[in-house]
Amino acid sequence: MSVLAKILGRLIFCLGVMITVVGCVIGSTVGATSGTTMPGVTLMAVGAVIYWIGSTKACPQCSKRVKHAALECKHCGGDLSAREKAN
Ligand SMILES: [Zn+2]
Repeated sequence: MSVLAKILGRLIFCLGVMITVVGCVIGSTVGATSGTTMPGVTLMAVGAVIYWIGSTKACPQCSKRVKHAALECKHCGGDLSAREKAN
């Protein structure tokens, strides 16, 4: 799930970059860049959020997002290494 989210996030982000570039080209010929680059920028933001969700996990104690490799929660200081073995 997390690996899939990371790949999906990267793909959507790359697609967003391409759409932004295309939007810039279209915008420069039409004369309004802000309107044509918005879909690409939005897609880039969505891709970044999906990638972030894929590269993090929820803390079992405070339910805030922490990195998969983390052994201790940076928000509440809870021990994540013991919980990981139980699952
Ligand atoms: Zn926590």
